Amino acid sequence: MMDFASLANQVMLRCDQLGAITQSPGIVDRRYLTPQHRQANDLVAQWMREAGMTVWQDAAGNQWGRYHSTDANARSLVLGSHLDTVPNGGKYDGMLGVIAPLAVVHHCFENGIRFPFHIDIVGFGDEEGTRFGSTLLGSRALTGRWKEDWQLLRDENKVSLPEAMAEFGLAFDKVGDATLKPDSVLGYLEVHIEQGPVLEDKHLPVGWVTAIAGAKRLNVQVNGMAGHAGTVPMGMRQDALAASSEMVLAVESIASQFGIVATVGRLETRPGAVNVIPGQVNFSLDIRSEHDHKRDAALQLIEEVFRDIAQRRHVDVNWQQTHHADAVHCDPYLSQTLSQAIQLSGHNAVSLPSGAGHDAMAMDAICPVSMLFVRCKGGISHHPGESVTSADVAASLQVIYRFFDAFSPDF
Ligand SMILES: [Zn+2]
Repeated sequence: MMDFASLANQVMLRCDQLGAITQSPGIVDRRYLTPQHRQANDLVAQWMREAGMTVWQDAAGNQWGRYHSTDANARSLVLGSHLDTVPNGGKYDGMLGVIAPLAVVHHCFENGIRFPFHIDIVGFGDEEGTRFGSTLLGSRALTGRWKEDWQLLRDENKVSLPEAMAEFGLAFDKVGDATLKPDSVLGYLEVHIEQGPVLEDKHLPVGWVTAIAGAKRLNVQVNGMAGHAGTVPMGMRQDALAASSEMVLAVESIASQFGIVATVGRLETRPGAVNVIPGQVNFSLDIRSEHDHKRDAALQLIEEVFRDIAQRRHVDVNWQQTHHADAVHCDPYLSQTLSQAIQLSGHNAVSLPSGAGHDAMAMDAICPVSMLFVRCKGGISHHPGESVTSADVAASLQVIYRFFDAFSPDF
């Protein structure tokens, strides 16, 4: 039996080492196409070589390693996640999904264990989108879904995406070379911290993901009438904030009623003075579910209730959709194999949806996908307090190993 505990300690150390590569001293901050991206790729490539893998970097700056099958004509099982972070992020979001499978491959290499499929591990250069404001640039390059107008994207220092790519030794017009042929890939497994409190609540180290929630985002505008806070009687007001407050509470109760999640995370009041009745409010609405039809039904009801509230309070309401992504469902065979691997590792195999977006969403365009969540302390992520235990990492390594063992390329 493998010594998963000491392998897990190595994974923890490597997450610390990667976490030390930062563009902002004192915090974890590593963005796409920066010198720190280069350093992280180089370090991961070195670990990949030590694990007996052939390494390369693709046309989008993603770092790859291949653990070859005994069969030269085999197809690949891809595992990976992202190596970039948000500013002041943690050491595990993304990195764990690269380092954990790498540790298992390293062990297999040292013990001469080979599989009837290649194992490709990828560290994506950009998932968070913190440099250019567009997420999943790394994984979307694999699907051939980069958009021509992304050449206009610029970072906070006005450096364009093509300029940053050139600086990194890549070319914007060659990014299509990173596209994977769907028939070369068997499937994709992403190991990721949960970023939520469910596994902790259930006292379980890992869980498998049913689906990645589809999200819609809207900007809502409520127009009432500004007026003097001292002179306009209560019954004669068209208070845009009082109306918006009812709307926010309606969002909360409708989301609960439909068993989905919906959030008003930003709200601005105009003119925003202590002695003026709010004349206009702009707020955001983010609504998600692993079931698109549930999300859409809830949104429809929310819109009806918004109209009712507006009519009753003599204000106008309108909204604009700014984002739409449908849910991605994890593949039944991969998920079943994962679930069995969890049980064989001695744990209850619980499933849960992912409320957050992941590289697996992009990968779904080219191959079946699956995800393994690892418990994280307090559900905290995108924060220096992000924390996983070595014991939980050991559990994830055991699951990955058993997944390799059980996975059949002929499914
Ligand atoms: Zn992530």
